[in-house]
Amino acid sequence: MACQHKVQDKVAIVTGGASGIGEATALLFAENGARAVVIADVQDERGKKLAESIGSDRSTFIHCDVTDEKQVKSLVESTVALYGHLDIMFCNAGTLSFDKQTVVDFDLDMYEKLFAVNVRGVAASVKHAARAMVEGGRKGSIICTASIAANTGGSIHTDYVMSKCAVLGLVKSASYQLGEHGIRVNCVSPGAVATPLICKAFGMGVEEVEKTFESTSCLKGVLKLKHVANAVLFLASEDSEFVTGHNLVVDGGFTFPQSSQF
Ligand code: NAD
Repeated sequence: MACQHKVQDKVAIVTGGASGIGEATALLFAENGARAVVIADVQDERGKKLAESIGSDRSTFIHCDVTDEKQVKSLVESTVALYGHLDIMFCNAGTLSFDKQTVVDFDLDMYEKLFAVNVRGVAASVKHAARAMVEGGRKGSIICTASIAANTGGSIHTDYVMSKCAVLGLVKSASYQLGEHGIRVNCVSPGAVATPLICKAFGMGVEEVEKTFESTSCLKGVLKLKHVANAVLFLASEDSEFVTGHNLVVDGGFTFPQSSQF
């Protein structure tokens, strides 16, 4: 089937782009005609390999630890210097604490480390992308990765839930403030998808994660990376040109039945 090139000629940055959801989205942007896809991550080897696989003429890996604002600013400036402007920012880098982090055993140092990536890192990414887009005088699309955990809460990983609620808050404010510049800000909230992050958190392999969550959605299927990446592509593309401040949940209906069982 012919590719529809939904992000033809766009310049995109993907943070946390070396693995999982970020990697799948970077590849999908490239398949859909992006002029340039900048992979930003702390995993240099994986990131470089991915950029090479897309092609050195339209992909670059830039080492960027999103907890360091200077590195985020430099990432955006380097992208603009290399490719002329920035159209799409996917603020996706994220982490989980690998302890339970229930309220009563809350390790607050761990919580601060997690917030540095999941909240501070996303805020810095939105800030510098928005500045570049406003200065460039172009419309743009910023997408952040939240999680269904922000809607459901959970028996564990309290810090993670809190961080993703903060991302939802940031997206609401940013979409409100940047609308007048033609910059849209949305987020995607995936259900459980078998990435290295989730496999490590649950101590399971890919198949086990998929089996565990298969029966939990209305659709009774397995949430795959392509489902999340397709949602991000929609939010990045002109197909969603009048959508902003939105939280696009991609979970096969996992969260829906919880509120509708009667
Ligand atoms: P992943 O581990 O495959 O990818 C996360 C990437 O972020 C990694 O490449 C990692 O190196 C990078 N990263 C971590 N800290 C960073 C930092 N300080 N600076 C730059 N990059 C950093 O995991 P994933 O599941 O693809 O996670 C991507 C996003 O999706 C995260 O924000 C996560 O919270 C969110 N999410 C995942 C799921 C899921 O089930 N996998 C569900 C909901 C939300």
